Amino acid sequence: LREILTAAHDRLPLPAELSTALQNLGNFDALGQVLQTALQDEVPLLPRDGGFVRAGFRQDLDEQRQLRDDSRQLIAAMQADMAQQTGIASLKIKHNNVLGYFIEVTAANADKMPSDPESGFIHRQTLASATRYTTVELSNLEEKIRAAGERSLAIELEVFAGLRDDILGQAEGLLALADALAVLDLSAALTHLALSENWVRPSLSEDKHLSIIGGRHPVVEAALKRDGGTPFIANDLTMDEADHIWLLTGPNMAGKSTYLRQNALIVILAQMGSFVPAASAEIGLVDRLFSRVGASDDLASGRSTFMVEMVETATILNQATDRSFVILDEIGRGTATYDGLSIAWATVEYLTEKISCRALFATHYHELTALADRLEPLSCHSCQVKEWEGEVIFLHTVAPGAADRSYGIHVGKLAGLPKPVVSRAEEVLSRLEAEEQQSSALSADLPLFAVTPAVSSTAPPKKSAALEKLEEINVDSLSPRQALDLLYDLKDLSHADD
Ligand code: ATP
Repeated sequence: LREILTAAHDRLPLPAELSTALQNLGNFDALGQVLQTALQDEVPLLPRDGGFVRAGFRQDLDEQRQLRDDSRQLIAAMQADMAQQTGIASLKIKHNNVLGYFIEVTAANADKMPSDPESGFIHRQTLASATRYTTVELSNLEEKIRAAGERSLAIELEVFAGLRDDILGQAEGLLALADALAVLDLSAALTHLALSENWVRPSLSEDKHLSIIGGRHPVVEAALKRDGGTPFIANDLTMDEADHIWLLTGPNMAGKSTYLRQNALIVILAQMGSFVPAASAEIGLVDRLFSRVGASDDLASGRSTFMVEMVETATILNQATDRSFVILDEIGRGTATYDGLSIAWATVEYLTEKISCRALFATHYHELTALADRLEPLSCHSCQVKEWEGEVIFLHTVAPGAADRSYGIHVGKLAGLPKPVVSRAEEVLSRLEAEEQQSSALSADLPLFAVTPAVSSTAPPKKSAALEKLEEINVDSLSPRQALDLLYDLKDLSHADD
C-alpha cells in the first residue's frame, strides 16, 4: 500500500485524508517478519489450545513435540505387538478424556485376553460391547506424552506473551496504521462503487436546495441486479425554498419507502464525502437527517409499536430545524384511522409551517393531499402504477400529483391471502367507498383543522332570503319608521331561513 500510494502521490498529490493515511502507514516489516516466522498460517482461536507456533521457531519446542510424536508412534507399534501377542486382530489402543490411553477389545474377544497377572494386562472397564485394559508400559508412555504436551504448551504460551509484548511496544504506530487502513479501505470501497455503479460527484451548497436527478437506492439496485429481474428505476427529487415538503402517495409496493430512503442515503453519502448513486446531485447542506421508517417495538422497556412511532415522531418534531432533512414513512398507521390521520395531518402542518425543513412524507392517507391547496411549500407526488387486464403493474416512477388508491387488496392477493378473504375484502371495500361518496369529503369533516374542502360542490349555495332583502335596501333612503319595520321583516325572514 505504501508503494502504491507513494507512486500515486508522486503523479498527483493525494487528498489530505489519504496523504495523512500514507504518513501513518508506518514500517512494521520487522514485526511482521517475527509474526510470520513465529506463527502457523492457521492458528487456533485460543492460545491455550496450543499448536500455533511454527516448527523451527524454538528448538526446545521442537524437541518436546518430537518426543510427543515419537511416543505416539511407540503406541502404534505397541498396538501391533499386542494384537499379534493376543491373536486379536481388532485390538485397538484408544484415548478418551476420562481414561486417557487404554486397550480395547470387543466383548466377543474378551475371552481371548490373557487373564494372568504375568501378562501385564490390567482390567479397567467392561462395557456392553467392549472390554478395556491398560498396562504399566502404556501408562508410562501416556505420562511421557502428557508431560511433553504440557511443556510444549508452556513454551508456546511463553512465545505468545513475547509476541504480545512486541506488539504492545508498537501499539501507537499500529493504531495509527489501523486508522490509516480504515480510511483507505473506506475510500477504496466508495471509489470502487462510484466507478462500477456509475455514481456521480455531488455538489454541495449552503442553501436549502435539493436536486437529485436520476437518484437510485444503492442496496435495492444491487439486489435487483443480482436477481437479474427488472432493473431499478431512477427517480428525481427537486426541492427548494418554495417547495420543500413532498407528500408522497401511491399504492402499496409502489416504491415509496425505497424512494424516501434512497434520497436520505444520497444526502448522507454526499455529506460524508462520497460520490452518490444518481445522474446528478446538488445538495444544500443538511444539519441533521431524521428518519421515521418501519414498524418496530420496544416491548421489553414498556413501549408498544405505536408508542415507539410517536416517540420517534416527537423527537423529530422537537429537534428538527429548517436546515434538517426529514423522511417520514407512514405516520399514524398504528392507531385508529381518524386518530392516525389527525396526527399525520397535524405533523405535516407543523413540519411545513413551524419547522420549515425539507421533508418527504409517505402516506396512504390520501385525505392529506388536500393540504397542498393550503400549504404553499407542500406539493403532492405519487408512485405510479398502471392497471392492465385486471392486474396492477408497478412502474416505480415518482411523478407530480396525488394517488387516488392504494391497491392494498391487490398486494394482499399477491402475498397469498386466502381467496375468500380477498373477495370479502373487495366486497367490504366497495361498500365503504360507496358510503364515503354519500357522506361529504373527510377533510371537510375535520373540524380540528381549518381546511378548504378537497371537493368543492358544483351547485352554488342557496342564498338566505334575509340576505337577499338586505342587499335590496338603500339605507340612506329609509325613514326611522321604515327602518324599524324593515328590522321586523328581516327578523321574520331569518326565522323562515332556519
Ligand atoms: P408499502 O406502501 O406497501 O410499504 P412502498 O410503496 O413503500 O410499499 P417499497 O417498499 O419502497 O414500496 O418497494 C417495494 C418493492 O418494490 C421493493 O422491495 C423493490 O423491490 C421494488 N422497488 C421499489 N422502488 C423501485 C424502483 N425505483 N425500481 C425498481 N424496483 C423498485
